[in-house]
Amino acid sequence: MTTPLTPGAAKKSLGQHFLFDPDILKRAALAAGPVEGRLVIEVGPGPGGLTRALLENGAAKVIAIERDDRFAEALGRWPEVAGGRLEVVAGDALEMDYEALVRSAGVDGPAMIVANLPYNVGTPLLVKWLKAGSWRGEMALMFQLEVAQRICAQPGENHYGRLAVLTQAAMRARLAFRVPAGAFRPPPVESGVVALAPLAAAEAFDDLEAIETVAAAAFGQRRKMLRASLKQLEAVGKPRAAELLEVAGIDPERRPETLSQGEFRALARAWRG
Ligand code: SAM
Repeated sequence: MTTPLTPGAAKKSLGQHFLFDPDILKRAALAAGPVEGRLVIEVGPGPGGLTRALLENGAAKVIAIERDDRFAEALGRWPEVAGGRLEVVAGDALEMDYEALVRSAGVDGPAMIVANLPYNVGTPLLVKWLKAGSWRGEMALMFQLEVAQRICAQPGENHYGRLAVLTQAAMRARLAFRVPAGAFRPPPVESGVVALAPLAAAEAFDDLEAIETVAAAAFGQRRKMLRASLKQLEAVGKPRAAELLEVAGIDPERRPETLSQGEFRALARAWRG
């Protein structure tokens, strides 16, 4: 059962660009690994193409969070709701208490998150989920290609910046595949699916707030040397930029795009003191 959608019905304000190609939907559903037997959270199911792919590929339960009541109501009539494999939550994904949703799902976590994200809230949702607790497992998320590249970028690459540093402090990220604009209705820009896997506890950085703060300062003025850009972190009770760099063992004349994940972690630790 699918949800009818007339071509003009997509709401731009909600970032609505729908996918109907079953091959692309299946690849997106499985990009972070098998969903069989898993609890999956989907944000923005819309007419339900990805939701259908998740259910058909054996997800134990899908919790679908949708802000557009037209879709939430239609999905609420799918037979899987009565059967307990689909729970539709009408509301804003930015405001959800995910931990409570997972706790009450009746299926063991951690939950996977699989979504073709609305472009206007994709990055804030990713940041929220990166900082989440142990309820959150692997994620397969579709973004505009440029955002997908910013998440996966490595030092020295054009798109390397605060989003890559923060993401890779918590998860292993890879661009799973690209989706051409023409695959969507209405067509947006080229998109990409990012597959994210949580780092093992011993590899993950435990102070995401600190690494986010130092990366934001460093890349806030990305053409400047670190000894200049990190000055904005100087505050009462905090080391001066030069001391920070010395403690972290980093040449003050370097620029932020040359720093590795390990060096950002060292800076974050030095800043935290
Ligand atoms: N999953 C569908 C697909 O792939 O065809 C639709 C994806 S569309 C890019 C984004 C969906 O997110 C839309 O259905 C939109 O209504 C919904 N949405 C937008 N903002 C939202 C929010 N803050 N919380 C929950 N859903 C939201």
